[in-house]
Amino acid sequence: MATLLDGRRLAAEIERRLGAVISDGLEVAGRAPGLAVLRIGDDPASGVYVANKEKACDRVGIRSHGGHLAADTPAGEVLALIRRLNADPTVDGILLQLPLPQGLAEEPLLAAIDPDKDADGLHTLNLGRLLKGERGPRSCTPAGVMALLRCADVPISGAQAVVVGRSILVGKPMALMLQAADATVTVAHSRTHHLWEVTRQADLLVVAAGRPQLIGAVHVKPGAVVVDVGIHRVDGRLCGDVNYETVEPLASAITPVPGGVGPMTVAMLLVNTVVAWCHRHGLDHPLADLLP
Ligand code: NAP
Repeated sequence: MATLLDGRRLAAEIERRLGAVISDGLEVAGRAPGLAVLRIGDDPASGVYVANKEKACDRVGIRSHGGHLAADTPAGEVLALIRRLNADPTVDGILLQLPLPQGLAEEPLLAAIDPDKDADGLHTLNLGRLLKGERGPRSCTPAGVMALLRCADVPISGAQAVVVGRSILVGKPMALMLQAADATVTVAHSRTHHLWEVTRQADLLVVAAGRPQLIGAVHVKPGAVVVDVGIHRVDGRLCGDVNYETVEPLASAITPVPGGVGPMTVAMLLVNTVVAWCHRHGLDHPLADLLP
């Protein structure tokens, strides 16, 4: 039976650590860390995600500077708000909740966020910092995967890792983080021939394809560690990119969906915010193990 890579449990542990870092630094900083989550429009899934992020902030003692703008807000107004948040000394992290309503271009808005307040770690400069191994906020979902693997003592150095998916959000930064941890990394995507032959090489398989249950038993080497980033609602039930029922008996460790990578993504958003707060106030922090 595979070991469960339990993201809910690890996220709760990280929240406890963050709570302690905040209470230790509060007197020197003179204020709590602040995270601004900008939601534009009324995408219902985004509403749930934003509410979860704000609840997580409350639990650890981060102040939420929420902003919910109408779907028809002009880009200039959103830009002006981002610039105000960049200049606000009580805001340490800014997150633009995606997807944006049609008609609003992501790129100029994401680029306008101060890279040192980039709680999502997706600013071009921060992706460059990851590429070069420099300090900076890390992309939340792959950083959360790395924390899950490390917490379970999954051997990464020298492992054959296969990442399915090459998005900027997940696949590409995931591959860079695994490579920085000395895995030998292959990236597969929608044009990969014979996907199963590639994925069966993996000691460590990370799947971020956005295709429900794409990966079945045929794709997995017995004993592999399988991380499922995908999340879908199919016939009213949540599932991932991996067929859990058929893959779990083969794997040595596996993430559940829900309760695997999802809670870790939120936890890493909080980590990026608290680390930015520590830097702003010259505070040491014991969180370096969470910044791959
Ligand atoms: P995305 O931008 O749609 O990228 C999907 C990637 O998978 C692309 O690189 C695509 O290849 C590749 N792909 C698609 N079909 C494939 C196939 N049949 N075989 C092999 N590769 C295939 O998606 P994303 O933003 O990376 O997200 C992936 C999934 O993770 C989604 O289900 C998303 O909801 C989920 N997600 C979860 C969390 C979380 O916190 N749990 C966070 C972020 C994302 P091409 O490049 O060739 O098109």
